[in-house]
Amino acid sequence: MVSGKNSLTTKVVIGMLAGIACGFLIRWLWPDSEPVRSYLVEGVLFVLGQIFITCLKMLVVPLIFVSLVCGTCTLQDVSSLGRLGARTVGLYILTTCIAITMAITAALIAEPGVGAHLTSSSEFVPKEAPPLSNVLINLFPSNPIAAMAKGNALQIIVFALLFGIAIAASGRKGKPIADFFVSMNEVVMKLVTLLMNLAPYGVFALMARLFYGISFDAILNLLQYFFLLLFVLVLQVVVTYFLILHFVARINPLKFLKKMEDALLFAFSTSSSSATIPVSLETVNRRLGVNNRISSFTIPLGATINMDGTAMMQGVATVFIAQALSIDLTLMDYLSVILTATLASIGTAGVPGVGLIMLAMVLQQVGLPLEGIAIIMGVDRLLDMVRTVVNVTGDCTVTCAIAQMEGELDRSVFDDDHAGEQDE
Ligand code: ASP
Repeated sequence: MVSGKNSLTTKVVIGMLAGIACGFLIRWLWPDSEPVRSYLVEGVLFVLGQIFITCLKMLVVPLIFVSLVCGTCTLQDVSSLGRLGARTVGLYILTTCIAITMAITAALIAEPGVGAHLTSSSEFVPKEAPPLSNVLINLFPSNPIAAMAKGNALQIIVFALLFGIAIAASGRKGKPIADFFVSMNEVVMKLVTLLMNLAPYGVFALMARLFYGISFDAILNLLQYFFLLLFVLVLQVVVTYFLILHFVARINPLKFLKKMEDALLFAFSTSSSSATIPVSLETVNRRLGVNNRISSFTIPLGATINMDGTAMMQGVATVFIAQALSIDLTLMDYLSVILTATLASIGTAGVPGVGLIMLAMVLQQVGLPLEGIAIIMGVDRLLDMVRTVVNVTGDCTVTCAIAQMEGELDRSVFDDDHAGEQDE
C-alpha cells in the first residue's frame, strides 16, 4: 500500500495548515470571548493536542530500551560499541560547536541588537540548570526502573547497552531473551505505526491552539533577532548537514530531506526532539536504510545530547542581549558561551522551551543579566518549532554519517523512493 504512507504525510500537512487557519479564524471571529477560549481552545483543542503528545511520549521509553537492547544483543564484537560511541559523541559535539560558532559570527556581523528597542514582554523565572559536574555521574542509573519511570534517556541508554552486552555475552543461554527483544521491537514499532494515525488530528489541535494565542507584536519588535536566527538555522542545514551528508554519508542531501518529511513535520508541530524519537527512528531505519544497530543508539542519544538549533539560539541571543544592553563581551566570553552551550545541550533533554533554560546558564556564565531572556521570550515559541526541526535533522544527519562509516547504510533502501511506505 504505497499510498498509505503518502496519504498520512499529506493528512498531517493538511492538519497543520487547517490548524493554523482555524486558530486565526477563531481569534478573528471571537477575539474576546471567554467561553470560546476556555471551552474550545483550552478545552477541546488543548485536550486533543495533549493526548497526541502524550501518546508520542508514551512510546519513547519502551522504544529506546527495546530497540537499543535489540541492537546491542546481536553484536558480535563488543569493542565496536566503543568506537561507535566515540564517533557518535564526537560528531555530535563537532556539529554543535560549528553551529554555535556560526551563529555567534553571524550575529557579530549583523549586529541585531545594536539600537534595538527592548522591553520585557513577560517575566522570566529561571529554573535550576543542571550542574555540569553531575552530568557524568548522572549517566549511570542507581535504579534502572526509576530511570525509566522518570524518562531519563541517558540513563536508559546506559542500562540498555549494558543489558544488551550481557545478553550477547550469555551466548546460547541468552538467546531466548534476545529473541524476545527482537519480537518486542517489532511490536513496539507496530504500535508507533498505529499511533501515527492520530497525528493529523493532534497536529491540527496543537497548531490551532498555538496560532489562536500567538502574538506577532513581539516579532515586530524583535524582527532582526527573529530573522537572523532563522537565517543561521537554515545555514546549518544547507551548509553543515549537506556537507556531512554529501562527503561523509555519501548520500544526496535533497533526497535525504525529502525522505525526512514526516520526522520534520512532527518536530515542527511538537517542538520536542524527544517526542519525535519514534518517528525519527522509523524514518532512518525504514526510509533512509540505516541499520537499527546504529540508529537505536544514535537517535535517542542525539535527541538528548545534540541540539544544534538550540545552541544557535544561545549564540544569537547572547550577542543580541549583550548588544542591546550595550555590554561588551570579550573573545574569552564568546569561547565560554560556546563551551557552556555545548555542555548544556548534553545535560538537558529535547523538550519544548528547554532552550530558554540553557540560555539562563549561558548568560550567567558570561555575566549578562537574566532579564535578557524575558525580552526574547515573546518570539521563542515560533523559533522553538524551527530549531527543533534543525535538532532532529542534525540527529538524523549524524546517524546516516555514522551508519556509512560503520558499513551499516543500506543504499538500496535509500535509493528506493517508496521504501518504508509499504508498512501501513
Ligand atoms: N524544543 C527543542 C527540542 O526539543 C529544545 C529547545 O530548543 O528548546 O529539541
